[in-house]
Amino acid sequence: MNLSITEGMSIESLARKYALQNAIEYDGKANPGSVIGKIMNEGTEFRSQAKQVAEISRQVIVEVNAMSPEEQKAELEQLAPELLVKKKKEIIKELPALENGEKGVVMRLAPNPSGPLHIGHTRMAILNDEYVKKYGGKLIVRMEDTNPPTILPEAYDLILEDLDWLGIEYHEVINQSDRFGIYYEYAEKILVLGKGYMCDCESESWRKLKDEKKPCPHRDTAPDINVKLWEDMLAGKFELGQISMVVKTDIQHKNPAVRDFVAMRMVEEPHPLTGSKYLVYPLYNFSVAIDDYDMGMTHVLRGKDHLNNTIRQEYVYEHLGWDKPVFIHYGWVSIDDTVLSTRQIKAAIQEGKYSGWDDHQLGTVAALARRGIHPDAIRQFWNDVGAKSVDIKFSWENLHAMNKDIIDKDAIRLFFVWKPKEIKITGIDKLQSRAPLHPERSELGVRVTELSGNITVQITYDDYENLKPGNLVRLKDLCNLEMMSDGSFKYIGNDLDVLKKGAKIIHWVGPKALDAEVQMPDGTTISGLVEKAAENYADRVVQFERFGFVRLEPDENIIAFFAHK
Ligand code: GLU
Repeated sequence: MNLSITEGMSIESLARKYALQNAIEYDGKANPGSVIGKIMNEGTEFRSQAKQVAEISRQVIVEVNAMSPEEQKAELEQLAPELLVKKKKEIIKELPALENGEKGVVMRLAPNPSGPLHIGHTRMAILNDEYVKKYGGKLIVRMEDTNPPTILPEAYDLILEDLDWLGIEYHEVINQSDRFGIYYEYAEKILVLGKGYMCDCESESWRKLKDEKKPCPHRDTAPDINVKLWEDMLAGKFELGQISMVVKTDIQHKNPAVRDFVAMRMVEEPHPLTGSKYLVYPLYNFSVAIDDYDMGMTHVLRGKDHLNNTIRQEYVYEHLGWDKPVFIHYGWVSIDDTVLSTRQIKAAIQEGKYSGWDDHQLGTVAALARRGIHPDAIRQFWNDVGAKSVDIKFSWENLHAMNKDIIDKDAIRLFFVWKPKEIKITGIDKLQSRAPLHPERSELGVRVTELSGNITVQITYDDYENLKPGNLVRLKDLCNLEMMSDGSFKYIGNDLDVLKKGAKIIHWVGPKALDAEVQMPDGTTISGLVEKAAENYADRVVQFERFGFVRLEPDENIIAFFAHK
């Protein structure tokens, strides 16, 4: 007899563990062929008992297939946790090659410092980073801070913190507010070239003329007059909003949005970094075109919502005789169930609806980090989605599934009992539980709970309300109990066979458990009790068994933020 393989395991217990494993893998239904095959492979001695093996396996499979997936998983976790394999990992898709990428690339992240980054922004951050890592070169962070009223001063630092957390390797950080001299220089050059004009039309009438494909009276002003007006504008000789500098495109362009655009205008509001040093500010399309060229961008990766902007910016390249970078536009991503508008979030923080930019109800990068989402899950998500131009719907479910794959192997297991209900255990005055900190990683050790005297434990009311006198129940990693007619629970040993008699495995905590609060993404809080060991895992992501993955906040009290199931 080959003891090292069977170690005295009966056909029945082998059948049970393989049936559970097979059922978990195949939607709750084990297949006799594979279970029998696995047992046969355990050792030659089973071949001579083939008939018995088949018979016992079939019986066991009937029992196992009648269990819920949750029960199957719980039992296998008890019997043979090493068999609980995770679903096969999807093959990680590679991003499509970049045209002209071979000699290295220069790319940029161009956030507006109006707030920290949210999940939507992480796409541009990750994809640019992936490409620069793939081809070698430089990644520049360019803070597009040329609209003072929208700037949130702390966003400059928050954005960099978010990028660091995401693992983005950027090589330079540049603020557009430091580059006004460059914008002025090129604005003048465009006027000199006759590719732009100074315009003091009332904005509505100017727009109306454009809609009708008609030039305004200033479009053909001579360059020297334009330059003089430009100098007067810089010198503050006009009233606020009285005059602007416009870049010519094609006034007949079939797309009205592309016809001539304002490049420089006056702004009165002081800038958080430069105060009132400048009166004349560039608008987005102008500063971006100048910077992308001046900083040597080889590839500009941006959302499809910028398609019209790209066309406008290309006129600047053409006017100045510059080679264009490769422009790539990825599709629109709609993100449901999440407030992403910086303006709305800012207002709600002020009203006290959110605790800050990292409030766990938000979709900001800081909030995701707080909830225990791993940066690699976000990276994998966008890598899978890629840079294609099709529009997609963001799936929190997919992100959570990827996150689970990443965090599961390091997440310590703990029991958290919500809606606690105390139960009395009779028939024994000393019990010890040695529950694995992780079912697949015995090297991490166990969490020990000692119970003695008049033993009481807390279970969740959700389990309690389904129990009737005479029912059997197994307290996970502790013992089996039978409910008595007086509502107490009698100790009935520790044999896992009780599961075959229909006992459900439930979780529990002892008298030393700590009060805990789980903050849910919908703003609700679930209170309960958690094992004392929780205090050792501050700032870690753990799994509250039968509840979900949470990140424990470093706090005197146990406060957890819910990540996902
Ligand atoms: N600051 C712009 C934005 O955040 C950059 C867009 C771009 O040119 O890629 O929308």
